[in-house]
Amino acid sequence: MTTVTVALTDHAYPVMMEQGLRHRCGAVIAERIAPCKMAVITDENVAPLYLADVTASLEQAGFSVLPIVVAPGEGSKSFTTLATVVETMAATKFTRTDCALALGGGVIGDLTGFAAGCYLRGISFVQMPTTLLAAVDASVGGKTAVNLDAGKNLAGLFHQPQMVLCDPQCLATLNQHCIADGAAEAIKTGILGDSELFAIYESGDPSTSYEEIIARCVAYKAKIVAEDPTEHSVRKLLNLGHTIGHAVERASDFGISHGHAVAIGMAYVARAAAKRGMLSHKDAQRILHTLQRNALPVETAFDLQTLDTLTKVDKKAAGSSITVILPERIGSCRMEKLSSDDMGALILDGVQEGASA
Ligand code: NAD
Repeated sequence: MTTVTVALTDHAYPVMMEQGLRHRCGAVIAERIAPCKMAVITDENVAPLYLADVTASLEQAGFSVLPIVVAPGEGSKSFTTLATVVETMAATKFTRTDCALALGGGVIGDLTGFAAGCYLRGISFVQMPTTLLAAVDASVGGKTAVNLDAGKNLAGLFHQPQMVLCDPQCLATLNQHCIADGAAEAIKTGILGDSELFAIYESGDPSTSYEEIIARCVAYKAKIVAEDPTEHSVRKLLNLGHTIGHAVERASDFGISHGHAVAIGMAYVARAAAKRGMLSHKDAQRILHTLQRNALPVETAFDLQTLDTLTKVDKKAAGSSITVILPERIGSCRMEKLSSDDMGALILDGVQEGASA
């Protein structure tokens, strides 16, 4: 078992990784949470694969399981699905000592965390990520959200899980597109603060296990989250590529997945930073090459006007300014506060040469 602790001052919790962990998750959870009603929230793709294993283990440890299966995809990060989840818990008479468990990717994690955070003003929840993206990033840190018509993740709250349990065996059923989504967030961690991790993705080193990649990403994120749990300072760094990425996701009506959109966002800020002399052209090229090598896009067909308009409603905007993250070298980034006009100029600087803005 590999364990990384998220050492928040008022709530430290473990992120545990082990092959086959789903088969004994009940006993591991029971060490921290007394047996109770457990709403296992998952989606229609994950349920046939892993719900039976998780349910069996929970029941064996004395939990009473309420499965709630929602449609797969970003569309389930909505108030409609959130209402279904909390109404189902209420109809089953869940009390404050009962619990929720997110079994799935980042969509399920964000939805479950929000439901657990608002039901009875907050019940405990556990994250069991089944995508690489959720394992390396979304399951840790307590950000929860649903989307609004106006934009991505615009309604949500901070609610930290009691624990995160990751069974890397579950990643074996992911398709290549989902693996690439996870690679985007892992490459982000590499650019932010782990040049060795970046090099693994740059060289395509096949000997590195998912367990090691997840542990490295979680260790980096845990450190940042412990320092700034509610994103007033350093946690903003984790938004590298996300301002433009969220605009791309929204512009595509969520047809472009989160990881792919973040890759486009990172490519834009890398090109813009190089153009402005903040990042060497060599490191910008390394970032673009590494994204492409991992089957990720580095350009979008959406025009400047569309992206610029959508970045203005991003939740990272504060008043008329927005904080963007710009790479300085592989393993180090900095925050820059931009006005709306400057944001438009940054997007323009990030457009690939030869592409129309
Ligand atoms: P996702 O949850 O939609 O999962 C992608 C697809 O994989 C879905 O179709 C799902 O059914 C399927 N799937 C999940 N596990 C599987 C498995 N083991 N085998 C086969 N199929 C499986 O997408 P995602 O990429 O995991 O997460 C993206 C979401 O995460 C976005 O909404 C994003 O905003 C959010 N996110 C949140 C945070 C955070 O800190 N809260 C961080 C990053 C991303």
